[in-house]
Amino acid sequence: MTTSTPSLHLASGTSTLAKTTSPVVIAGPCSAESEEQMLLTAQGLKELQGVTVFRAGIWKPRTRPGSFQGVGSVGLEWLRTVKQETGLRTACEVANTSQVAEALKQEVDILIIGAHTTVNSFMVQEIADSLKGANVPVLVKNPVSPELMLWLGALERFSYNGITDLGVIHRGFSTIDNAPYRNHPKWDHVLELKKMLPDLPLYCDASHIAGRRSLLRPVCQRALDLGYDGLMVESHYNPAMALSDAQQQLMPKELDMLLQSLKLNHTDEALTQKGVLMEELRKEIEHLDDELLDLMARRSVVSAQIGDLKQETNLDTQQAWDDVLENLLKQANSFGINKEFVKTVFQEVRKQYAQTHLYADMGA
Ligand code: PEP
Ligand code: MN
Repeated sequence: MTTSTPSLHLASGTSTLAKTTSPVVIAGPCSAESEEQMLLTAQGLKELQGVTVFRAGIWKPRTRPGSFQGVGSVGLEWLRTVKQETGLRTACEVANTSQVAEALKQEVDILIIGAHTTVNSFMVQEIADSLKGANVPVLVKNPVSPELMLWLGALERFSYNGITDLGVIHRGFSTIDNAPYRNHPKWDHVLELKKMLPDLPLYCDASHIAGRRSLLRPVCQRALDLGYDGLMVESHYNPAMALSDAQQQLMPKELDMLLQSLKLNHTDEALTQKGVLMEELRKEIEHLDDELLDLMARRSVVSAQIGDLKQETNLDTQQAWDDVLENLLKQANSFGINKEFVKTVFQEVRKQYAQTHLYADMGA
């Protein structure tokens, strides 16, 4: 059974994933596409301050068949060339044991467990078992859904197999409403993990949270303000030509501008976990209020149609309305909402409509 107090064996002091004086930046294309694309991008990135790791997706988990699935094994050769030519450490996602074996054979420096793999404990276990005794850093992305224990469980599976050079990548979560993000950051959720495991290197994959270039800066800054150890940002020498995630990739020189604009090593003390939670809850309330307003507007359209029909047919809807109200009050009870309050709200909504549309028989 998983205990609530995690005990990971972390490579204390020797972690190759923790920040030293400034945050570590992992950058590179969403997908490896050609040797030329990899080299042109990496040559640009190696000049940037903070960029020490080059990432590229070799096998791409895609929602539907038919979209670009990654170049496969040949991409590992290009990653090797990037390492030789630029001196950057390399990283790629692995999603099964044969990909692990190939990546290790081609001396990829850091393995990444993608969000779609972290959700699958069978796959994580197989990958972790296959790494027993291997001396390779592993970065585990959060599972697609906000399930902290699943994320922690994946880390434990690696830790129990002797992988101590571990870190996590926060890439956002799939929630009911991710707007304006591609994947909702749910910072507060991640801070829970940080609280449990303060020594675990924590990276922010701003690209997969933002989903578009314009949101990258605030996401990166927020991560740094919260004391993250590093950032992951997708970069392509020509994003317009990218075969995957074109809308969120930056040219190396754009990434340079972004990094220069960030306040590095700046932790915002005011952003405590409670502060972040308050901000997230306030945003949620704002959003719910918007929805309420939207529902009221939609309700008034339907209500107007009913009003028109009533005038045409002389049908009396009073009984129907009384039944509706009675049902609403029963539901209010089961939701634990004060019945009188609900009654007043609905009577007011109806009255408001009646006043606006001057239907004599409506209203309180
Ligand atoms: C990626 O990093 O390109 C990727 C597919 O990410 P994720 O696993 O976060 O979806
Ligand atoms: Mn991507």
